[in-house]
Amino acid sequence: MLFRLVTFISVLLLAGLAGWLLDGIPGALIGTTLGAGFWFLMDLRRGRRLIRWLRDPEAGPAPTMFGLWGEAADRCRRLFRARELEVSESEGRLQAFLAAIQASPNGVVILDAQGLIEWCNLTAAAHLGLDPQRDLQQQIGNLVRDPVFATYYASHDYGHEVTMAGRDSTAQRPVQLSVQLHPYGEGRLLLLTRDVTALAQADAMRRDFVANVSHEIRTPLTVLSGFVETLQSLALDEGERARYLALMATQAERMQTLVDDLLTLSRLEGTPPPGFFEWVPAWTLGAQCEEDARALSAMLYGASSVQQALVFQDAPDLALAGAANELRSAMSNLVSNAVRYTPPDGRVDIAWQRLPDGRLEFSVTDTGPGIAPEHLPRLSERFYRVDRSRSRESGGTGLGLAIAKHVAQRHGGELRIASTPGQGSRFALVFPGSRVRREVAPEPGDAWPAPEATRRSAR
Ligand code: ADP
Repeated sequence: MLFRLVTFISVLLLAGLAGWLLDGIPGALIGTTLGAGFWFLMDLRRGRRLIRWLRDPEAGPAPTMFGLWGEAADRCRRLFRARELEVSESEGRLQAFLAAIQASPNGVVILDAQGLIEWCNLTAAAHLGLDPQRDLQQQIGNLVRDPVFATYYASHDYGHEVTMAGRDSTAQRPVQLSVQLHPYGEGRLLLLTRDVTALAQADAMRRDFVANVSHEIRTPLTVLSGFVETLQSLALDEGERARYLALMATQAERMQTLVDDLLTLSRLEGTPPPGFFEWVPAWTLGAQCEEDARALSAMLYGASSVQQALVFQDAPDLALAGAANELRSAMSNLVSNAVRYTPPDGRVDIAWQRLPDGRLEFSVTDTGPGIAPEHLPRLSERFYRVDRSRSRESGGTGLGLAIAKHVAQRHGGELRIASTPGQGSRFALVFPGSRVRREVAPEPGDAWPAPEATRRSAR
């Protein structure tokens, strides 16, 4: 500032001096006036250059000037640069924020105070059938026409969420969405959507499961309490009493089997998959299955004039890595089903096969009634039965195949089912090669591991 004052006075003095030299006092006055005018014009020119640049700073670099104007231009340039940096930083933050919302598994729609869409992520677009570009500034109420949403949106009571069908929902593939509006700012709304199909299905499955278990237990319980009443109210002779007690024992056993199967299933679901520490020889499993099957067949058809042909192929010199009790339960369930559903004059074949890729297959083939193709995909669902009364008659719980499939999957394998109505069925457990190793059966006379108690033989 001082420098500017000194320069201004110097210009005046020089101009005045020049005027005085030329024309004395009047010349000095004219020189000083011209000097001041020159100074003023120069100032005006610099100011105009700065203002022209300020009007459009993008057009070029800031004008290079000395003195006060130069400093003003420099400060403006620095201010602009700081602002630009701030804007690009906050733009970066906004983009990162939007990318994070984009990555969210939940749908997000930002609505303004008039209910117009300001922004939505791809998940919300897929859930609600919106176009994230084309539908901006459109009324949400005009685009989401589901009656549940329309009523909820119009109610202005957004303290709870509502569940509605998703845009891609079909009868075969239902999609359930949970939708909630959250008011914020001045009348603005945040719309959140969540795919709850899996939750709704799990809930429905839980309800079905509880209903099925209650139903399965209620039947024997009703029969049991009927017998108790009869025993209490009627004077029965010894023979009748014994017959009633035997019938009661059968019902109690049925409940016991059901509870056992339920506990097995819950253990399978609640424990980690078996590791590779325990190796169960195929011949042990084969022997246990044979023992179970023969006991069950004798119990069911012992009194029949013809007897089932149970053909057990010799187990290979192999062992399976897994949980012995689980493997036995899965195999026994398949064998017991074949025995129960095959008539006395039929045949059941139990075989082992090492597949070319190293996997080990345990198969049970019967000449029973077979199963119609439409039932096959649902057969391993809990409590799914083709013939309810046939299953109950023979002591079935409807959980055997669910257990077998679960065990197979826990061992990295699968349950395969093939059947032709009227000809028979084939159920097979296939285990991965990584769980199979060679293990030679002991010679006859050597001590074999004792088979465990037969769980399903009572069926
Ligand atoms: P259950 O205890 O009723 O036998 P499972 O889960 O073991 O229950 O089997 C489910 C249903 O599959 C059975 O109710 C039966 O209808 C059918 N099923 C299973 N095995 C056979 C088979 N070997 N032959 C014919 N039907 C079978």
